Amino acid sequence: MNFFKYKAGTFNHGIHPPEMKDDTKGLPIRQFPFSPMIVLPLAQHIGAPSEPVVKEGDVVARGQLVAKANGYMSVPLHAPVSGKVKKIDYVPSISGKKNMGIYIESFPSSSQEVIEGHAIDLANASPGEILSGIQQAGIVGLGGAAFPTHVKLSIPEGKTCKYLIINGVECEPYLTTDHRVMLEQHEDIFMGLRYLIKALNPQKVYIGIEDNKRDAFEKLEQYKPLDLAVEMVLLPVKYPQGAEKMLVTAITGLEVPSGKLPIEVGAVVINVATTAEIGRLLPHGRGIQERVITITGPGIAKKGNYLITIGTPLRFILEQVSGENIKEVFMGGPMMGVSVSNLDIPITKGTSGIVAFKPQQSLENQSEYACIRCGACLDACPLSLNPSQLGILAKNEAYDLMASDHHLLDCFECGSCSYVCPSNIPLVQYFRVSKSIVRKRQAKAKS
Ligand code: SF4
Ligand code: SF4
Repeated sequence: MNFFKYKAGTFNHGIHPPEMKDDTKGLPIRQFPFSPMIVLPLAQHIGAPSEPVVKEGDVVARGQLVAKANGYMSVPLHAPVSGKVKKIDYVPSISGKKNMGIYIESFPSSSQEVIEGHAIDLANASPGEILSGIQQAGIVGLGGAAFPTHVKLSIPEGKTCKYLIINGVECEPYLTTDHRVMLEQHEDIFMGLRYLIKALNPQKVYIGIEDNKRDAFEKLEQYKPLDLAVEMVLLPVKYPQGAEKMLVTAITGLEVPSGKLPIEVGAVVINVATTAEIGRLLPHGRGIQERVITITGPGIAKKGNYLITIGTPLRFILEQVSGENIKEVFMGGPMMGVSVSNLDIPITKGTSGIVAFKPQQSLENQSEYACIRCGACLDACPLSLNPSQLGILAKNEAYDLMASDHHLLDCFECGSCSYVCPSNIPLVQYFRVSKSIVRKRQAKAKS
């Protein structure tokens, strides 16, 4: 019998929404069919959009570079399928904004074999070559943030990486992507970890996993190579523990200051699926062309964890999994995900889940009432913000005051406050809009 010791620390506040993972957590990862048309947005990561290096009519092989990184804060795109470039044109996006993208008609009879590039030799590569290899592979945070991983791994002058934390928490309800990756791709995870350790030279390495994925914890513990000094940490289940700052506190006991990144306290946090992707791609010099996505929710008949080609349109996916009578679809889960208004948008590198609800379960059905000052949102907020006050200011369009006096920009949109609000006030939606307005104003003031 195994006994596990919980790490003593945790972060303040947080919530316990129903996990809703039982439908898919036991389902192995399966290859999803290739869509006849792939829609590849050039802006699918944080930073400058990629720059096309192909033109209409070009024939491309799966894994071939189709758009190069446009500067340091950017990553390239690789052809997710073998096919023909149909056009370079506007593509729909989840934000409603139309961005440019590459449409590729896939060849139905192709073997879809992936071409290889310049392999990064773990034994001889320098830290800089590893970071360059990660950028060339087009790797971004697969947990949903889509932040270029090579940038995250570049330690600023004067700082050092003391703690490398691999994030296997996956606290978002419904999603089981990382859970299945940990169960099925342990070799890739440990290979990725070797690259990360060589790039960062951390003093301590942790893999943090919540107690509702104990089988994954046991699997990684069992297969952990003897020469890798990695501490496995089993954490009690609490949302939003998968958020970087919360995880740093839960594991190291350190608090990341307001407005700062985890490196401020010497920590770098990398998602476990991103780690696996590094270990899978770098030894072969390949670019990322697919990712694991959980497709679930009451509106889906064929729920599962699927390996899906990036750029596959959502409409095609829902047809294959018998998504019917759907009222609302979330990309990325119901807490931190975004409700989709256009089924023609494609999945991108940052898409970790698709959750579909039928009309009677849709969150859109809830009426909003006045704040009763119950304080539940204050007790829920992991950053000890005052969501009630922020909500009132948002309604009064006092955006600058929200940022200057109430730490609006610290809010990472976990949705805990909205979840507990008995008045159904969509606080997180208010904060999303408010943050976007403040950021636009700040950018305008700088220019
Ligand atoms: S959405 Fe923002 S304000 Fe609300 S609980 Fe999360 S961090 Fe706090
Ligand atoms: S949880 Fe809702 S009703 Fe309660 S104080 Fe916060 S905003 Fe007001």
